[in-house]
Amino acid sequence: MTDSFHPPKRVLMGPGPSDVDPRVLEAMARPTIGHLDPLFVTMMDELKGMLQYAFRTRNALTLPVSAPGSAGMETAFVNLVEPGDTVIVCQNGVFGGRMKENVERCGATPVMVEDEWGRPVDPQKLEDALKAHPEARTVAFVQAETSTGAESDTRTLVEIAHRHDCLAIVDTVTALGGTPVETDAWGIDAVYSGSQKCLSCTPGLSPVSFSEAAVARIRNRKHKVQSWFLDLNLVMGYWGEGAKRAYHHTAPINALYGLHEALVLLQAEGIENAWARHRRNHEALRAGLEAMGLSFVVAPEHRLPQLNAVRVPEGVDEAAVRGALLDDYGIEIGAGLGPLAGRIWRIGLMGYASNPRNVYLLLGALEAILA
Ligand code: PLP
Repeated sequence: MTDSFHPPKRVLMGPGPSDVDPRVLEAMARPTIGHLDPLFVTMMDELKGMLQYAFRTRNALTLPVSAPGSAGMETAFVNLVEPGDTVIVCQNGVFGGRMKENVERCGATPVMVEDEWGRPVDPQKLEDALKAHPEARTVAFVQAETSTGAESDTRTLVEIAHRHDCLAIVDTVTALGGTPVETDAWGIDAVYSGSQKCLSCTPGLSPVSFSEAAVARIRNRKHKVQSWFLDLNLVMGYWGEGAKRAYHHTAPINALYGLHEALVLLQAEGIENAWARHRRNHEALRAGLEAMGLSFVVAPEHRLPQLNAVRVPEGVDEAAVRGALLDDYGIEIGAGLGPLAGRIWRIGLMGYASNPRNVYLLLGALEAILA
């Protein structure tokens, strides 16, 4: 006989998932009701309103995709990109590479705008690429690169995209809730996120939001969206404005209770206060790490408060340090990816995990291990 699984209690200070607020877990344990039950539908409406709050948008097409952040990314690409399109993809880390994959799988041509890992996307390079490719219809980039901790200037990049008649797809998986994402004020056309980072919900849901221009493009496609599950023309019948709530797929009911609760908590705190809290805890961590002689990968003006990429000191076995943190202190931090593998640690201070106690816990543990 196999026993029940009882995971240990960890402190999740890696690149995500982050610690889940106990109130979210409690909400998820509530009774499962039908996904077309009128009370569930009321909950969906509230959830949508709170996602609009988090994304700072009035977009009617705002909903949680029933799958993780990668599915939110795929939702944006399969709906907005058609075979034969040219898409400018800005890459400064792992996730721009995943965007390229998406573009190719849509039968479109990606034009890559590359920046060094740890640097933000260079607006001038985007401008040059758009001048060289007037046929491009879409620009895509990651606001908060989880693989490096660098933040790009979404407002400027979207403005450039629009000047060249392109729609802008923006990845805010790590950004949302931890750092400003101004969907309407910056004019973002398609934005997606994940439940498991600064929203402090369990992994597996991907909030998305689409502007009117994006919806018009989706409604006027020449080709059917290649994915049945992610085709927003169909999903809108379940989640859309004035939708009949027709069956599309069985919603992950208890997971949605969790996201609802996470957003109730975000609203109660106030999103600006959440941004300020992430900034404060980052500053405390930064001061402690620098006092220990550790240095950051990203220049101060482009650093994400929720994802701190720190160089591994010369001669230190980075995997052994992560192992000791996990085994002796129950703290998870992340390793480097791609060209940064073995060279950096990624320390997350996301959502519920972004608090002074975790800052001091990590600093104390790291100091003891490195001594
Ligand atoms: N985009 C970014 C910037 C991410 O950090 C992640 C996950 O870490 C994803 C996309 C993919 O999200 P998920 O792992 O939930 O599929």
